[in-house]
Amino acid sequence: MRFAVGWSKLVKVDSVVLRFGGEIGIKSEWTRRTYERLLLRNIKKVLEYYSISIDRIVHKRGRIYVKAKHAHEAAAKLTQVFGVSSVSPAVETTSDMNEIVERACELADETLKNGGSFAVRCHRVGEHPYSSMDVCKEAGTQILTRLKKRGLKVDLRNPQVTVGVEVRDEHAYIFTESLQGTGGFPLGSQPRVVCLLSGGIDSAVACWLVMKRGCSISPVYFDITPFTNRAATAKALDIAKRLFEWSIGFPRRVLLVPHGKNLETFVKKSPRKLTCVLCKRMMYRIAERLAEMEKAEGIVTGESIGQHASQTLHNLRVLNQAVAKYPVHRPLLGFNKLEIVELAKKIGTFNISTRTAEGCSAVPRSPATKARLQLVMKAEQELDISEMIQESVRETKTVTVGT
Ligand code: ATP
Ligand code: MG
Repeated sequence: MRFAVGWSKLVKVDSVVLRFGGEIGIKSEWTRRTYERLLLRNIKKVLEYYSISIDRIVHKRGRIYVKAKHAHEAAAKLTQVFGVSSVSPAVETTSDMNEIVERACELADETLKNGGSFAVRCHRVGEHPYSSMDVCKEAGTQILTRLKKRGLKVDLRNPQVTVGVEVRDEHAYIFTESLQGTGGFPLGSQPRVVCLLSGGIDSAVACWLVMKRGCSISPVYFDITPFTNRAATAKALDIAKRLFEWSIGFPRRVLLVPHGKNLETFVKKSPRKLTCVLCKRMMYRIAERLAEMEKAEGIVTGESIGQHASQTLHNLRVLNQAVAKYPVHRPLLGFNKLEIVELAKKIGTFNISTRTAEGCSAVPRSPATKARLQLVMKAEQELDISEMIQESVRETKTVTVGT
């Protein structure tokens, strides 16, 4: 067995082991295969997008193995692909036991501190002349023997470093690091949804949560200038751009709806207490048309019970009544603000959402928290709602953000 002085410099992390067990693993065979194919496609798109060149990408049941020179960089990017449960930058070798042990010793030497504890764990699929236990015993013994001067010890219960060995058919992968993935389902495994994206904290998180369940998104922003300023639109577009970093390989279109004129009509011609409810019902109606045009299956909003006057359970029912063809999904219904903020930070939208922009100046001093549906419908009957919808849809612009 080759064992040179200074061999730790030989360690070449050249691969990434990608795991996607979890929820994908319990799907039926057909669904699972479809999801895994989609995941493979999304992974390739991400690597291509970040110009990470790969030598090889191999898909096996429950795993994807990527051979890439910049394996650490690839691993970090791939943690952000929905469906990936964990990722390990690894050293690839053949399934020959001697080679495995050699590489495991090299990696242990580089990773372990003097006096540190370790454990070797092996996962093996395929036909091999040894068992997983043989690999653990042999690699563990050799690490202790060869690195005797380092004063290492084996601790199977609570090791400082776990030397992972994954033997897969004719290849083996050795690693000491596992990065947590985002989980969820591969993007595109569920239909598209239109998302009402306001530029605030909540709707960005709502979008991300449905993306995590596999839906690609068509964000819709309602521009209410002159009741707010241009900075609000820029914020919404920047948030969309950030969200699209989670959906590489999918369209980056945002739908911009001119809504200021509609809001002005409600302010001038309808009871002021009802402004917010009327404004939001109009948003839903327009979103329904856009959902049809986008071939989407639903409308997503960032509403959460009781957060604002327009978000009491009663008012949410009044809002729902405005649309019949498409369901309104509210992933944040039961979240409190702290939980939403925590997620927004993780997603990377929080700092954009909290940038200053003028709030809506049309909000009345005391908006109805329990708007009476009859009064709302009466106020709408006095307006030409269908013409307002048509004009807004006609004037909706589609912008592509980012590349
Ligand atoms: P957010 O933090 O998402 O702005 P919010 O707590 O401020 O939400 P509201 O202003 O009542 O609450 O909006 C509720 C939901 O309505 C938003 O989460 C979003 O989905 C949608 N919405 C509100 N304003 C707009 C807008 N200008 N464009 C698109 N969607 C909007
Ligand atoms: Mg808001």
